Amino acid sequence: MSDQRLREGARAFAQKVFDDIKAFSIDPVIGVSRQGYGPLENRAHEYLKDIARELDLEIKVDRCGNLFLTLPGTDRSLPSYMTGSHADSVPQGGHYDGLAGVVAAITTLWWMRKIGFTPKRDVTMVVFRMEESSWFGKAYVGSLAMAGQLTQEDLALKHRDKDQTLAEAIKEAGFDPQDMVKTEPSIDFSRIAAFTELHIEQGPTLDSQDKARVGIVTGIRGNLRHKTCLCIGQTAHSGAVDKQYRHDAVMAMGDLLMRMERHWAEWLVRGEDLVFTVGVFKTAASSAIAIIPGEVSFSVDMRSLSMDTLDRFHKLLVAEANAVGADRGVTFEFDRTLVCKAADVDKALFSHLHDAAQKAGITVMDVPSGAGHDAAVMADMGVPITMVFVANQDGSHNPHEKMKMDDFMLGTEVLFTAIATYD
Ligand SMILES: [Zn+2]
Repeated sequence: MSDQRLREGARAFAQKVFDDIKAFSIDPVIGVSRQGYGPLENRAHEYLKDIARELDLEIKVDRCGNLFLTLPGTDRSLPSYMTGSHADSVPQGGHYDGLAGVVAAITTLWWMRKIGFTPKRDVTMVVFRMEESSWFGKAYVGSLAMAGQLTQEDLALKHRDKDQTLAEAIKEAGFDPQDMVKTEPSIDFSRIAAFTELHIEQGPTLDSQDKARVGIVTGIRGNLRHKTCLCIGQTAHSGAVDKQYRHDAVMAMGDLLMRMERHWAEWLVRGEDLVFTVGVFKTAASSAIAIIPGEVSFSVDMRSLSMDTLDRFHKLLVAEANAVGADRGVTFEFDRTLVCKAADVDKALFSHLHDAAQKAGITVMDVPSGAGHDAAVMADMGVPITMVFVANQDGSHNPHEKMKMDDFMLGTEVLFTAIATYD
């Protein structure tokens, strides 16, 4: 291997890939928007294929549109080492969520070619389709379809602001929606020895560190969600109806949320891992200052490293909703429960990543992953996984999300070293 370090030698290449993809992804209002199965995600895939051709990599696209770029190893009978992430973004999002892992993967392959290093086993870079749930309310669409776990119900999900189903979007991107819901996986997961996804942290822990700007992930939280639930009371005149006659949906929601917040605090004291968010909360379109609200629509998002915790907290939510309903004369309607499984990282791979960081002379720290990632789907399919996190600033899923190239190059060097020293 070369004496030159990746963090210096590959920096200009990585920066160019970020810049090139950003140039065609700018949202007319703010940030970047690359919808999964949309034209700009397609363009990012085509751009990466061009680089793959220059590097003489094998190019494959599965029936779901996920992209695989392989640098063949010296022993092709061995299962491959896979790395990668997703190339879609949330609407008006930042430039690094997902893309950092894609750029880290292509930079790793570019660097191997540059220094003339051929690994023992194949190294395959994967670019997953539509990881973000913000467009259709379903996360990991590309990787779940690859795993044979996408359903007809998922295909019927509606776009956040267009009159379009997920099936229609997939068709527009040039793929057959019915190919997406086959129960047979689109690839042979037993041919993957290890999977490491690099991602920005999307939280403040690493960025608050002086030394450790790179994290090794200890586990990925699963989530349980509802997209649109309803609390239905009775709409009435705000001056003419006294307290005892009211069925106020906003007050009922307040009651329910205060109950859940108290339970949440108690569960944390008991040592359970849990976060609970109602991020959408809307009164009816006809609501007004002088009307007692008769309807609230709301979302639910709960996450934990333990799926059992989520299951029990969800049951508690429904029980408390029924209790509030009985107290206040309102009814709650919960729409379909959407579940993403939590994932454990592979212990051996986790310590291999630590060894790689040490070899590269890069300080790392252990961090949990609060957000979900395609790596969780890989783990569910029996693939040993780990993740590398890179410090980032100003959060994520917003146009202000930032990341420093210095930190990114350190994370990419950990990834490269892990893959290069795997055998
Ligand atoms: Zn992401």
